[in-house]
Amino acid sequence: MSSTFESLGLSSATLTTLKQAGYEKPTPIQAQTITPALEGKDVIGCAATGTGKTAAFLLPIIERLSKQQKKGVRALILAPTRELALQIHEHAVRFGKPHHIKSVAIIGGVGMGAQKDGLSFSQVCIATPGRLLDHMNEGNVSLARIEVLVLDEADRMLDMGFKPQLTRILAKVPRERQTLLFSATMAG
Ligand code: AMP
Repeated sequence: MSSTFESLGLSSATLTTLKQAGYEKPTPIQAQTITPALEGKDVIGCAATGTGKTAAFLLPIIERLSKQQKKGVRALILAPTRELALQIHEHAVRFGKPHHIKSVAIIGGVGMGAQKDGLSFSQVCIATPGRLLDHMNEGNVSLARIEVLVLDEADRMLDMGFKPQLTRILAKVPRERQTLLFSATMAG
C-alpha cells in the first residue's frame, strides 16, 4: 500500500497544502481511498471520526473539480450534524483555496440568506439533510449538476432518522455520479 501523499496521484498544489497543514503521511483510510476516488470509482469506507476520512474524500473531490472549472454545485457532502458539516467545510475551504474551489456549509440554526448566496457561487456543498431540503424547497439550489455525492457517517444519519430526507434528496441527484460512502459501522 502507498504510504506517501506523493504516490497517491495528487497535484503539486494539494501536496503543498498538505505540507502546510502538517499532514506528513496518509492515514490508512486516506492511503486506501484517495487513488480509487481520483480514478472516479465509487468507494465505501469504514471509518470513524479521527481517522482522517474528511481528507480522504475531500482531496479527490477538489482534484476532480479543479480539472474543469464549471459553474454550479458539483459535489454534495451530506453529514448528520452541524458540527460535523462545519468541520468538513473548514477542511474544504483550506484544501479548495489553491484551486479556487469554493465551499458552502448548509446547516440549521442560522439564517438562510448567506447560505443562499453561498450556494450561488460554490462548487462544494456540505449539508445536513433537513436544511438542504429547506433550500431545495425554496428553489435556492439545483442538484442537477452533482458529479460526486458523499454520505458521511451514513450509519449515524440513518440512526438519527434521516432516511426520508435522504431519499428525497437522492431523487434529485443525477444517477450518473460518483458516490463515496463513509460509515463507522457496516451493518445493513
Ligand atoms: P477526520 O477523521 O477527518 O475528522 O480527521 C481527524 C483530524 O486529523 C483532523 O484534525 C485532521 O485535520 C487530521 N488529519 C487528517 N489526516 C491527517 C494526516 N494525514 N496527517 C495528520 N493529520 C491528519
